[in-house]
Order: sequence, then C-alpha cells, then structure tokens
Amino acid sequence: MQIITRNELMDQMFPKLPKFRNDQIQTALFNPRNKSWNDLSTLSKEMRVEIMKSVQWTSLNCVKIVESENRETRKALLQTQDSHAIESVLMKNKREQWTICISSQIGCAMGCSFCATGKLGLIRNLNVDEIVDQVRFWQELIKPDERISNIVVMGMGEPLINYENVRDALNLIIKYTDIGKTRITVSTAGVLPRMRQILTDPLWPHVRLAISLHSVDVQTRKQIMPSSYPTFLDDLAIWAKDYLKIHGNRRHHLTFEYLLLSDVNDSQSEAKKLASYVKKIGNIKVNVLIYNDTGLFHAPSAERILAFSKVLQDCGVDSTRRRSMGSDIFAACGQLAKITSQT
Ligand code: SF4
Repeated sequence: MQIITRNELMDQMFPKLPKFRNDQIQTALFNPRNKSWNDLSTLSKEMRVEIMKSVQWTSLNCVKIVESENRETRKALLQTQDSHAIESVLMKNKREQWTICISSQIGCAMGCSFCATGKLGLIRNLNVDEIVDQVRFWQELIKPDERISNIVVMGMGEPLINYENVRDALNLIIKYTDIGKTRITVSTAGVLPRMRQILTDPLWPHVRLAISLHSVDVQTRKQIMPSSYPTFLDDLAIWAKDYLKIHGNRRHHLTFEYLLLSDVNDSQSEAKKLASYVKKIGNIKVNVLIYNDTGLFHAPSAERILAFSKVLQDCGVDSTRRRSMGSDIFAACGQLAKITSQT
C-alpha cells in the first residue's frame, strides 16, 4: 500500500497554497487543542471540508497504552494506515517534564544482538507524518499544563537509514514546537556514509547525536552489532574529530552510548580501552547503559557496573549512567518490538 503524506496530498489539492497558509496548517497540527481539521478556524469552511475529504488528521491510530508501575513511563502501540504497529514511549525526566522516545522505522535491519527490534528485520521506513505524529500523539495525551521538553530518536529503527524523512520531520518539529535542537538526540548504530553527509548537509538540523559504540574491540563490537566492520572504530574516530571541528562547542558534544553486557564488554580493561579511545577524540560524553532484559544477555552485577564507571571517572572521561525506565512494560532501550501484548 502506497501511503501518501499530508504534504503530498495538500500539494495535489492546493498546488498554489501560499507559504503563510502552509505555516498556519502546520502550526495548527502541532497545537494539541486542535482535535480535527474542523478546529482550524484560520481556514475557510470550504477549505476545511475539502481537506477533510482526503487528508487524515493523523497517520497513526492508538491501539493500546501501557503504563509502568511507578507511572513514570508510558508506552503506546500505534498503528499505521497500512496496519503495521510501532511503539513510542513517554518518560518523566529529571525536571518533571516529559521526554519522548520516537521510532523511525518499522522494525530494523541492523540486527544488534541485544535488541528486540533488530529481531523483526526491516519492514519499512516511517514517513515524515508517522514520525511527526508520534510527537503530536504524546502532546495531545499529556495534561495541558505539562510539556514535552526532550525528544530522543531511539525507538524502533535506525534513524540514519531513514535519513531524509527523519531530517525533514525534525525540521518540522523544531519549527513548530518549542523543543529546541539541543533538546533532541538522534541515536545511530553508526551509519558512517550518512554521518558524513551530516557534516555538509545544510538541511540537517544540528540536533545532538549519540553513537552506539558498545565496545572498542573490533571483534566484540561485531559480536554485539553485526553491522560493524573491521575499520569502523578508526573511521568513527576520524569522523568524530571532523564533526567536533565543524559543529562542536560548549553545548554541543557527541555522545557515545555504551551498553554494559555481563562478561561481554564490562571488564575494567574494556573500560580502560574505552577511556583511551574517547580521550584521543575530544569532546565526547560516554553514556553508560545497563542491559534491559530481552532474554539474550545478562546485566552486569552492581559491583561490576560501579567498577567500570570508576575506571572511566579515574581516567577523566565525562561519563553518565542512563537511568533505565519502563523495563516492566518492555519500554526500555532495546526492548521495543511490538510486544505490548505481552504486558
Ligand atoms: S539497537 Fe537500534 S539500530 Fe540496533 S537493531 Fe535495535 S533499533 Fe536497530
């Protein structure tokens, strides 16, 4: 089934739509008080009727929402027009505002061995509407006095394989919401051709980038992330230096994600190798994550996690430990895979 996006339909229906009209429509779409085209009082009644005949107000239908026991995380199972399901997550952050984790693909081709989404394979890329509508969905669901302050593109899929749609969706979100570029993080398994494109693409919005590193040993990384290749770590270091030269500043660093897997990449010697790798590059923040159970690996013990973090600290690496949220509803990192029915 060929899905035509809102913009494509609008272009077909109103080929000469003035820019201010398009701005009015986009602004209205991102206003959670509006629930249908009928609410767009800035448009004439005739135009609203015309739009309603052919353009859906949203590209996603909510099938189910589940909430974690501590009520800080909610996961939604959303259905696309061609009846595929994606998952999207809402999490309370430290500032008592909301962070949302959105998907960029249905399934994923990267096959990371710790990730439930990777087991699905790639079904298709999400289009711009389907990415944007996850943000609109959560905006509508939270209370009117609450706000979404951060977005992470870390849900189902590899965002840089769906480069143009992710880029165009982010540009719309940045333009029509109050969520700034530094409040958005795109996470990639390391798609270097697209990462190189970011260096020179004038349309790429300079949101934060997080690269899933998970090991600085070639063999171990290949075991965890089959998409890795022998020169990846060298190529990444060169790219990261170039990126920081062009875009790095006090507020704009790069993040390397490091998922600790028991007896795979969590030894103190791995921590030392990681520290030496990142220190050679420059302004890198290391985000240490603890494995959320998908039945394939084990999370390290609390002692090993502490020992790993201490080595990083002692070596002067800027590192944080990401709080895992929503694992009881399979909403945490690596757990998204249309499994809402299991919760
Ligand atoms: S971790 Fe990300 S890139 Fe890897 S398989 Fe899962 S969704 Fe894909």
